[in-house]
Amino acid sequence: MTPDFAPTLPREVALRHLVRVFEAAQLPDARSDARFLALHALALTPLDLTLRGREAIGEAGAEALERAAARRLAGEPVARIVGAWEFWGLPFALGPETLVPRPDTESVVEAALRLFPDRNRPLRLIDLGTGTGCILVALLHERPNALGIGLDRAEGALAVARRNAAENGVGGRAAFLRGSWLDALAGPFDLIVSNPPYIAAPVIATLEPEVRLHDPLAALDGGADGLDAYRAILLAIARRPGLLSAGGALVLEIGYDQGGALTHLAREMGFSDASVGRDLAGNERVVTVRPSLAGR
Ligand code: GLN
Repeated sequence: MTPDFAPTLPREVALRHLVRVFEAAQLPDARSDARFLALHALALTPLDLTLRGREAIGEAGAEALERAAARRLAGEPVARIVGAWEFWGLPFALGPETLVPRPDTESVVEAALRLFPDRNRPLRLIDLGTGTGCILVALLHERPNALGIGLDRAEGALAVARRNAAENGVGGRAAFLRGSWLDALAGPFDLIVSNPPYIAAPVIATLEPEVRLHDPLAALDGGADGLDAYRAILLAIARRPGLLSAGGALVLEIGYDQGGALTHLAREMGFSDASVGRDLAGNERVVTVRPSLAGR
């Protein structure tokens, strides 16, 4: 079913209509989905909608709303239709080769900031598999004397991340490079962060369609047991301890059920200081490894 919007409909009426259409389709977030898409399709700010809600949506508005509604009803996530999403209170453009930033990933930023609480300290950061650049840009935003590298294998992601860094005012302190994990880098870094692909390959088929069909597989697929990327990252640091500065740390996002496996893996590779942190929902979400604390 493609909903119809008459060009003469007032904006606020069109929005209510869209909410009802989404409710009828049993979308779990019908109201907020409708609001985001209406603002986007009609190119309005929230204030425009409030103050000038009685103005007609017009021909172009009606067409844009119909297109956006049809895409949402076909299962496309709102963030993909809008082409941008918010992370750490900052706007991020998306691309076909990036994930949509998740609120869970803000736990990585929080854990990293807690390790380096001095806002003005100069820091050298690297974000492995940077995607939209959301983790790196948020950290650079919070630590104005930090410099960072965003690494990704996907050229398309690098272009998106570069643009996001510039739009968020940290482009002058960020460099984006094509590469796979830590292969070509010398360091030392104070902070290595990553939200690598960590879904076990056999689990991918069971993910929600919004993730499975619309997020890039390369950003999700962590190999047979989901731990391939972690192995590569930990191995690189174990082999070349100079990648981390004295006092430096590795902060990784993990899946809700990977805390035990990750700390085990880290210990196997000789990192005895590996700790697990939780996200706002109470799930294990972050692993922090600090080699120098354990006499490595
Ligand atoms: N958190 C993402 C999801 O479950 C997975 C991201 C990742 O593999 N890094 O959809």
